[in-house]
Amino acid sequence: MKFGCLDNNTVGAIHGDRFYDLSTLLGAGAKSWPPTAMINLIARYDALGDQIAKVIKEGQGVPLSAVHLDCPISWPNKIIAFPANYEAHISEMKDGLISTFKADGQGFFLKANSSLSGPCDPIVLPNVFGRAVHHECELAVIIGQTGRNIPQADAMDYVFGYSCLLDMVVRGKEERVMRKSFDSFCPLGPYLVTADEVPRYDDIELELFVDGEMRQSANTRDLIVGIPAMIEMASSVMTLYPGDIIASGTPAGVGPVQAGNVIDIRIKGIGEMTIDVVAGAGEGHPLWRKTAG
Ligand code: MN
Repeated sequence: MKFGCLDNNTVGAIHGDRFYDLSTLLGAGAKSWPPTAMINLIARYDALGDQIAKVIKEGQGVPLSAVHLDCPISWPNKIIAFPANYEAHISEMKDGLISTFKADGQGFFLKANSSLSGPCDPIVLPNVFGRAVHHECELAVIIGQTGRNIPQADAMDYVFGYSCLLDMVVRGKEERVMRKSFDSFCPLGPYLVTADEVPRYDDIELELFVDGEMRQSANTRDLIVGIPAMIEMASSVMTLYPGDIIASGTPAGVGPVQAGNVIDIRIKGIGEMTIDVVAGAGEGHPLWRKTAG
């Protein structure tokens, strides 16, 4: 099953090429605040299965081509992100731009939830005085149920599904959360794909293109910290909740983007997004001028 979002909080099931509004079932729609309808669906998914199937069977739906999909989860409890999690990416960064510690020694970080944006939204580049803004192509793992101290053997039971994620970052040595948390620096989508539709979580191909040129190509079999180990590690520190997003780390090929570029992210069996990169307004904070990066 696939689930997407319109108007910030109108959650629907995507079946074939149609979108089936589940707002009535969930008791929340576009005007509800905070926009947590998708989290509600994720938390209640097992109990709602039959009713969702009924909406699809009896409803009309609207053509996907006629709707504008928004970020599928805009108000999660947290975004957990793993750095340097593919060997090839670590070797390309060893010239000193970022730490060369690996995710298996360094652990994870958090990225601001407000950096999330949707599949039809542009990445808005801040004025950082010529500093490089890089793309990172990542598989998003969506947590399905509450858990703490989850052993690897049980970890996949906690996965609701997957989505495509771009972890955008200003390169430099400032605090990572600041460099990675500008608005629009975490495109997610185009929808969530439930885990039962993904036969092998450890054999998922991901690719990223800039203006049609392939920049990143990898497979989740090459992750250093695999998905069960990420869940074990994260849940050893913090309680995981339905709708939490794990950005699983980027492979080799990160590089700068500029206004006017178009980024395509394609994850086999999960989805594709085409995202414009545009220049933002505003003068920029002088902090970015102070450090050479
Ligand atoms: Mn990343």
